[in-house]
Amino acid sequence: PAATVDVLVVGSGGAGFAAAVAAHDKGAKVMLIEKEPVIGGNAKLAAGGMNAAWTDQQKAKDIKDSVESMYKDTMKGGRNLNQPELVEILTGNSKSSVDWLTSLGADLNDIGRMGGASANRSHRPTGGAGVGAHVIQVLYDNAVKRDIDLRMNTRGVEVLKEGGKVKGLLVKGKYKGYYWVKADAVIMATGGFGKNNDRVASYDPKLKGFISTNQPGATGDGLDVAGNAGAGMTDVQYIQAHPTLSVKGGVMVTEAVRGNGAILVNREGKRFVNEITTRDKAAAAILKQTGKTAYLIFDDSVRNSLKKINKYIKLGVVPTAESPEALGKLEGIDGKALAATIAQYNKLVASGKDTDFERPNLPRALNEGNYYAIEVTPGVHHTMGGVSIDKNSGILTEDKKAIPGFYGAGEVTGGVHGANRLGGNAISDIITFGKLAGENAAKYSKQ
Ligand code: ADP
Repeated sequence: PAATVDVLVVGSGGAGFAAAVAAHDKGAKVMLIEKEPVIGGNAKLAAGGMNAAWTDQQKAKDIKDSVESMYKDTMKGGRNLNQPELVEILTGNSKSSVDWLTSLGADLNDIGRMGGASANRSHRPTGGAGVGAHVIQVLYDNAVKRDIDLRMNTRGVEVLKEGGKVKGLLVKGKYKGYYWVKADAVIMATGGFGKNNDRVASYDPKLKGFISTNQPGATGDGLDVAGNAGAGMTDVQYIQAHPTLSVKGGVMVTEAVRGNGAILVNREGKRFVNEITTRDKAAAAILKQTGKTAYLIFDDSVRNSLKKINKYIKLGVVPTAESPEALGKLEGIDGKALAATIAQYNKLVASGKDTDFERPNLPRALNEGNYYAIEVTPGVHHTMGGVSIDKNSGILTEDKKAIPGFYGAGEVTGGVHGANRLGGNAISDIITFGKLAGENAAKYSKQ
């Protein structure tokens, strides 16, 4: 082999960096490889926060919370399809994960609320800056300080096994070509597959043609590397999609914009669906429109009803004009038709019944102040399923047997989030299971 280490970590997202630093600190010689030319994976894009319960940061703000409450919220959010023993670790270790990151230099003092949470438990840097970028920076600095061998442009290709035990990995350097790395333990931290629409649609055909919020490396080749080495898969069919992703910003636009009164129109300026139908139906209807996109249209009364809208405006993804006609011109929507559609919609609102599309709620007419448009299309955000793991972060075969020396953590794994991941639980997942995988792999390599 071209190199020999105790622990080889595949993927430089939050799970990979947490695993690498934790394994090093347990005395292992560590290598971390990343196939892309940049570090951070999807993790560095995470904006919400890191969910944790009963933390010092919460106590300092007098926030009442408990591990049990975080456990219940996580199970409920996942439609009770999560694996309870994994959720126990996610929630039970959440405080120690926050403490660990803090000891490495992270600032997780600001605390907010995310969907599905019954307490404020989403920890992020003071001032509410992006938690993912901060956590990746802190972990990267710590990896550099420890002199961990970090290799970019290096893809994990095939696991080497001997007598059923993992012994190393065939890797492909973009410039160096193929070479073997001998390792007592390999940790898969390769993230999800949201950016690979063929794979997404093969598990959930309803999602064909969806764009994604994910980074380019989120293709899921790590699933094949693990699968070819005998890993079983859990819940790969559960893929988090959203009907309204901003085409310009790649960010999800919350359903509350529609709930509070925005309508959806196509490029021809016409409504085409009950705006507050289920996510899958709204997504399918949008994909049938010209260019596979639609526009959320609203006025100042909707804007003023929902603080979140100001965030989208700040991102620069919300063209604004004084009239529907002018808005249409800005965005290449038929402005005359748009004005007629809004007038017709306002009539329906006044009558209290949507005889056109049977929309069940008609909160307000669209006739106040400025008009706004957000171009949206359905998008994939997170893949809940992946390789099966046990509570030691060890990868399991299809019949639930541990594969010695093989570990997995983060979005590449399945079971933690059930059918649906709560906002703020991804960072928590990758730090807790990344650290666990790193520590256990280091311990195993010393045996
Ligand atoms: P997590 O949030 O679970 O840590 P991320 O998406 O943040 O996942 O990070 C996963 C990283 O793994 C990405 O940077 C991705 O480019 C990288 N990756 C994916 N597949 C491979 C592979 N086969 N070899 C090396 N790196 C990989």
